[in-house]
Amino acid sequence: MTITVGVLALQGAFSEHLTLLHKAAAFLSPSEPQKWNFIEVRTPAQLDSCDGLIIPGGESTAISLVASRSQLLEPLRDFVKLRRRPTWGTCAGLILLAESANRTKQGGQELIGGLDVRVNRNHFGRQTESFQAPLDLPFLSEGNQGGRGSGEASFTGVFIRAPVVEKLLPFVDDIQVEEQKREGTIVAPSRHTEDPAARKVMSDHVDVLAKLPGRAARLAGKSVDIDPEAEVGDIVAVRQGNVFGTSFHPELTDDPRIHAWWLRQVDDAVLKLRGSQQQ
Ligand code: GLN
Repeated sequence: MTITVGVLALQGAFSEHLTLLHKAAAFLSPSEPQKWNFIEVRTPAQLDSCDGLIIPGGESTAISLVASRSQLLEPLRDFVKLRRRPTWGTCAGLILLAESANRTKQGGQELIGGLDVRVNRNHFGRQTESFQAPLDLPFLSEGNQGGRGSGEASFTGVFIRAPVVEKLLPFVDDIQVEEQKREGTIVAPSRHTEDPAARKVMSDHVDVLAKLPGRAARLAGKSVDIDPEAEVGDIVAVRQGNVFGTSFHPELTDDPRIHAWWLRQVDDAVLKLRGSQQQ
């Protein structure tokens, strides 16, 4: 059984994702070199051949513009929102997967949608304010994900003009209606499906998988009187069913653990899907 995973290759850090996917696959399936097929996606036909997809970091405005010119926007929405194929967006990719995004130039960008969240673009500031921070990712200790030993959940988060998930949105039909009323907010086009299986996965709730500790951690040791319990931190990784988004760029590290974890999710989703198609 070969599983094809595509990386949207219109702009941004797609080749870095491919490098880490190969590394993760060599770790996960050393005796099955044919199991994973990784491809660059630039056309609807290439997208159609994929079981899972990564949307890389880069510039979400540019990615959406090129996707629209390449007739890829609607097939992407179909892939993520209706067929609910496993999809992971990093940074700009997370913005594109959000149902709602703040601080965008009006008319300057279209969203794919699929994650019932509102993101705040460039939450962490400009390019020159890029930073790295250790993140605690408990889902990585679910197993030995990439050769660094199980139980080790710390991961270097690389943040470059990174968005934050500022709100989890309730799952309702036409989720976008309320969001549309907000000033300076853009929303993904609504999605309607009568397919009960697709509706069921769409109503999966949004899990928060990681937070960047807030002021409490940054100010630790600086004799500032704040209550660490009251500090919620910024949401930097979420999952809703098969759709996963991270504010940071694992592809800009040499650490394949998140890629290995995600490939396992893809593997499970594909097994389920192919199983149900055979019945
Ligand atoms: N803030 C950028 C955007 O709007 C994303 C930056 C990134 O992917 N590093 O697309």
